[in-house]
Amino acid sequence: MANSVAPAPGAGTLFIVATPIGNLDDLSTRAVQTLTAVAVVAAEDTRHSGRLMQHLGLRKRMVALHDHNERDRFQQVLDELLAGQDVALISDAGTPLISDPGFVLVREARAQGIRVSPVPGACAAVAALSAAGLPTDRFLFAGFLPAKRAGRRGVLESLVRETATLVFYESPHRILDTLEDLISVLGAERELVLGREITKTFETFYAGPAAEVFAALSADPNGTRGEFVVMAAGAAAAPAAAPSFDEDRLLARLLDELPVKKAARIVADLTGGSKNDLYQRALAMKA
Ligand code: SAM
Repeated sequence: MANSVAPAPGAGTLFIVATPIGNLDDLSTRAVQTLTAVAVVAAEDTRHSGRLMQHLGLRKRMVALHDHNERDRFQQVLDELLAGQDVALISDAGTPLISDPGFVLVREARAQGIRVSPVPGACAAVAALSAAGLPTDRFLFAGFLPAKRAGRRGVLESLVRETATLVFYESPHRILDTLEDLISVLGAERELVLGREITKTFETFYAGPAAEVFAALSADPNGTRGEFVVMAAGAAAAPAAAPSFDEDRLLARLLDELPVKKAARIVADLTGGSKNDLYQRALAMKA
C-alpha cells in the first residue's frame, strides 16, 4: 500500500494474525509460519494465547496488549519493531481489531512508517454472514451493543431505517435482553439470524422473524450458552419517491416542439394533472 509516511529504516513488520474462533483446524498455514518466524507475539491474553502457542510447539517472547493497557503498552511493541524485530499481533479468537484490541498499535505503527501486514483468517462476523442467507452485498457491522437497555435501544433506534444487513456481537447473558430490544425497536417481523458457537461442536443457526427466533432461543435449554453473532435483515428500502415534475417547465419545453393540445396531453399523462387545466395553461403560455 502507498504510504505517505517515510518507511522506518531497518524496522520489522507488524503482522496482524487471525486465529480460530473455535475450531483449531481453521488456523491457516501462513498463520503458523508467521507465528513461527516472528520474534515477539503481542497477545490480548498471554495465558490464553500461550495455550495456542503450546499447541503449536512454539515458545515466543509475549507482550500483553489488551483494551485496558493498549495506550500504555503499544510503545513497547513499537520499540521492538523499530529495533528490527518482526511482531505478530493475535487476539483471543478471530481477527485482531475486530471488536478486539490493536487499533492504537496499528495506527501508531503506520504513522511511524512501520510495515503492517495482515495474515487473514477466521472472523465470527464474516463466518456468520457467509452462512446466514441474508443479503451480504451491504452490511453494517456494529460490534457489541451497549450493555444497558437504554443505550442499546438508542443505538438500535439509530439503525431502524438502515437498509444494509446489521451484524452485532453479543454475549450469552445478554442475548435474550438484546432480542427483546430488537423486537421492540425493529419489530417482531424483522428477519433475524443468530449464529451460535460457529465452527464449534454445538454450532447452531436460528433464523426467522425476530419474535420466532426469540421463542426458539428461549425454548432451547442450551439456547443461551456460548457465543453469538446476531444478524438482522436491513429495513425494507423506502419505495422510490414518485418522480416530481415541474409541470410548467415541462409544458414550456414541449410547446417548443409540439402543438398545444399534444403538449398538454403528454404532460397530463406524465403527471396525472388535468388535461383541460394544462391545455388552458399551455394556451396562456403561447399567448
Ligand atoms: N475478533 C473476533 C472476530 O474476529 O470475530 C471477535 C472478538 S469479540 C471480543 C468476541 C465476540 O465474537 C463474541 O462475544 C461473539 O459475539 C463473537 N464470536 C466469537 N467467536 C464466535 C463463535 N465461534 N460463534 C459465534 N460468535 C462468536
